[in-house]
Amino acid sequence: MKILVINCGSSSLKYQFIDMENEEVIAKGLAERIGIDGSVLNHQPKGFDKIRIERPMPTHKEALQTVVDALRDKEYGVIKDMGEITAVGHRVVHAGEKFAYSVLLKEEVMDALKECISLAPLHNPPNIMGIEACKQIMPEVPMVGVFDTAFHQTMPKKSYIYPIPYEYYEKYRIRRYGFHGTSHKYVAERAAAMLGKPVEELKIITCHLGNGASITAVKNGISVDTSMGFTPLEGLAMGTRSGNIDAAIIKFLMEKENISVAKADEILNKKSGVLGISGVSSDFRDIEEAANKGNERAQLALDVYVHYVKKYIGAYAAVMNGVDAIVFTAGLGENSASMRSSICKDMSFLGVELDEAKNNVRGKETDVSKDGSKVRVLLIPTNEELMIARDTAELAGKAKK
Ligand code: ADP
Repeated sequence: MKILVINCGSSSLKYQFIDMENEEVIAKGLAERIGIDGSVLNHQPKGFDKIRIERPMPTHKEALQTVVDALRDKEYGVIKDMGEITAVGHRVVHAGEKFAYSVLLKEEVMDALKECISLAPLHNPPNIMGIEACKQIMPEVPMVGVFDTAFHQTMPKKSYIYPIPYEYYEKYRIRRYGFHGTSHKYVAERAAAMLGKPVEELKIITCHLGNGASITAVKNGISVDTSMGFTPLEGLAMGTRSGNIDAAIIKFLMEKENISVAKADEILNKKSGVLGISGVSSDFRDIEEAANKGNERAQLALDVYVHYVKKYIGAYAAVMNGVDAIVFTAGLGENSASMRSSICKDMSFLGVELDEAKNNVRGKETDVSKDGSKVRVLLIPTNEELMIARDTAELAGKAKK
């Protein structure tokens, strides 16, 4: 069984083609500049050099056709015909309150996803375009939707209801949804495997620290609280997003700077976070470098970032009445030893003791805590594509029976 996993952005299409016999990636790549000049596909088939294909891709349909052509290319193809694609798994950002699990993308599901567009105006439209392109190009192949919000649908109501008039939840479904769910679920399950215990018996805090960042309290295998909210703006300070701030700042700024709602939204999403504080970059590598050279605002950005992460770890340990493991994942969590070290510093009260020597590692599954640390600190590279492929294989298998 071979599964194509697709993740569509507004002008990009990222994919992995996975052989489920051994869960091996047999091809992967990224189509960029869809809908604009200079569309290009960088395709990496297993056992070959990377292949660059420049071809007009006015919509996601042409991009997907280029991917399929590359997969079955005479010279470097990994399949002979389209029939070898058993099913396609699509990453979909927002499924609202409708889906707590992955589902086959039938017409009624598509309607539900379209209803969620107002909740994720930047993310859901390209996700839907990708699904529709697939349906046109391979109408016979089963499609599965895997949702970023699904894992967090288990949260209790006290975690997802905001303290604003309840009618807004009833009218507009304003509530915490949470994101990065596929990643939090994957690393929580891997953490349990590493600790040799069932996930149902563990309290785990999963820290997905990438460009966007979120933290989840995973108790007995389910998400009981998470830092992102109604949108992916809430929670931690991020690369360019503010995370939690006093909501009154928005009105104050709009009046003082005489700016529109759209401009205020742009400032909070694109100009804030560690970029906003440091004025250097949204990339932590640049900020760490500047801080090491004595740039005080770069150091302040890192300090604020760490402070936010620590506060969530403390809060979630309190919410779960303890914690067995803290997991670091995504770009920063997997790669920055200094960030993991700063976050875990002075948390011995909680039983967290990082081993600096073991922590000097990147990108591989490792326990980086001291032998005697009550709370295990784990580095686990995330693998959202594999999670999507597994769900897709399972549902496509059932659909055929
Ligand atoms: P996303 O998927 O949200 O775009 P990633 O999980 O790929 O993001 O994370 C990207 C971020 O990870 C980069 O912007 C950078 O800040 C951080 N990062 C990656 N490698 C390193 C590193 N070696 N040291 C510090 N930060 C890193």
